[in-house]
Amino acid sequence: MHCAEAGKALIKFNHCEKYIYSFSVPQCCPLCQQDLGSRKLEDAPVSIANPFTNGHQEKCSFHLRPTQGTFLSAHGVQRDGAGWEQSISIPLLQPHMYGMMEQWDKYLEDFSTSGTWLPHRYEEDHHNCYTYTLTFINCVLMAEGRQQLEKSEFTEKYIVPRTRLASKFITLYRAIREHGFYVTDCPQHEAQPPEGGGLC
Ligand SMILES: [Zn+2]
Repeated sequence: MHCAEAGKALIKFNHCEKYIYSFSVPQCCPLCQQDLGSRKLEDAPVSIANPFTNGHQEKCSFHLRPTQGTFLSAHGVQRDGAGWEQSISIPLLQPHMYGMMEQWDKYLEDFSTSGTWLPHRYEEDHHNCYTYTLTFINCVLMAEGRQQLEKSEFTEKYIVPRTRLASKFITLYRAIREHGFYVTDCPQHEAQPPEGGGLC
């Protein structure tokens, strides 16, 4: 999949008492074939932001991505080089702590070269990139004199809401790619994206 395609938003509009999702607004409703040109303002299409961000451009964040390929291509499309262009970003700093950005890289550098994270110490379940991240976050919290985070709390509060949102987006995206559009009943309870605040 091309980068530009992966980064695009989806469109949601209302017709036939359904929510219809698509990559762009079609000329006619795919259900009743009626012209969509003259619509009321409240039926105007809304855009659904792509929850994936370019991890190389985000600061002080935790990023998730599949081990192989990208989220939006089913399997196996391995990118050359880099590879974090399409990841879920979890900001780790609250706005009032942006002063910490200065020290962040140094903390991370010191932390990463401490010997604890040498490749031979890697262990799939208990000493992996996730423990690395959580341990680092807790080091930062400790340095700031704040309470540390349990793994379960970190997962529930910061990881799950974003992966849930991303998973919904992926479902829509794949269905639209396959069928051109995706329909859900309306009204439907919409999951709101989580607040953008950080945790440190
Ligand atoms: Zn219709």
